[in-house]
Amino acid sequence: MKWVKNLLRAKSQEQKHPPRKFEFSSEGLTYELYRLKDLFLPEFKIPNIKIEVGKHTYTKAALTYYNQNRIILYKPYHLRFPTDYKSTLLHELGHIVADHTHGEDFKRYYNLLVERQRGVEEEVIPSNYVDFLFSKVTRHYSSRYYCPICRTVKVYRKRVNSVCKKCSIPMLEDMMFEGIEAIVPDSFKQTVNKSVLGRGCFSSKDSLV
Ligand SMILES: [Zn+2]
Ligand SMILES: [Zn+2]
Repeated sequence: MKWVKNLLRAKSQEQKHPPRKFEFSSEGLTYELYRLKDLFLPEFKIPNIKIEVGKHTYTKAALTYYNQNRIILYKPYHLRFPTDYKSTLLHELGHIVADHTHGEDFKRYYNLLVERQRGVEEEVIPSNYVDFLFSKVTRHYSSRYYCPICRTVKVYRKRVNSVCKKCSIPMLEDMMFEGIEAIVPDSFKQTVNKSVLGRGCFSSKDSLV
């Protein structure tokens, strides 16, 4: 009986992580990350992850440096949506263990979480994939512009007339975006397989069904 198994698993995880008052701090969020990991993905080992609190960014919920196992959660966003830190943590964890982008492996990771949510009483995973991908709209929109020639990308807090310095032509508006975005410096980019290997993360792609 699957639900019995799920219930037993949830109970044993409750004992492992006794309830405590949540505080939006590096320590509080770290406790929550490992608690949620054990609740949803008990059979997987994850690396040590450093969580920092960002105070002055309003445009997004979080930022992940996946090759440093480092996550920054922004406080202003989470003050507005106090329960969202849970899905934000699991979203960002996905960038470290499953897929650096919002690609296919990220979707598989999400599907696994949805399946696990059925046996977990605590509501954490949004039932809609888009809600898991993006945070809620905040007042602080960001606009993204790109140069049609050299493809340079620039982001702003609002819509502006942006000019490419290199090509001296107006940049084109790409899309409005806000919310959870894992922004990764180009020099850090590596393939998913390379990053998963030897890190004690999800053992293989196939373990994510
Ligand atoms: Zn250009
Ligand atoms: Zn993301």
